[in-house]
Amino acid sequence: MMPLEKDLQQLTLTKLKLLAKKNGVSLERPRYDFGKPTYTAYKKSEIIAVLLKSSKITKKKIKEISKKEPTKDRDANRAFNRTQKNEILFQQDNKCAECHGKLDPRATEFDHEKPWASGGRTITVNGRALHADCHKIITHRHRLEKVDG
Ligand SMILES: [Zn+2]
Repeated sequence: MMPLEKDLQQLTLTKLKLLAKKNGVSLERPRYDFGKPTYTAYKKSEIIAVLLKSSKITKKKIKEISKKEPTKDRDANRAFNRTQKNEILFQQDNKCAECHGKLDPRATEFDHEKPWASGGRTITVNGRALHADCHKIITHRHRLEKVDG
């Protein structure tokens, strides 16, 4: 086993993806669903194989990534509070951010425009109110387009 491979094995999947992203190593492979191109992430062993082929991946870079704490970038609060929700609804004039239809306050869902998991903050400007169905469609679309970092 190559020494670099051993170092890469120690990293989590998230960190391997981050390492690839930071060094411009593409882990995407096109797939076709519903006539639209989508991307599927590689498995850990496949990501390691791709990274080993890149000359940009060095021992030093692997070490840097292994020290990085990814959860630090995330907002400690994931859910919008009542005040924020009211503010978002007010800004959107009680209309859905996706279809612009009238929202029913009892069936409204709140979503991060920049996903929370990708470092999106739980603040009013990053929030949007949606119908439950519209939210599902958006979430599904994100999943298909997902290029995870
Ligand atoms: Zn809607």
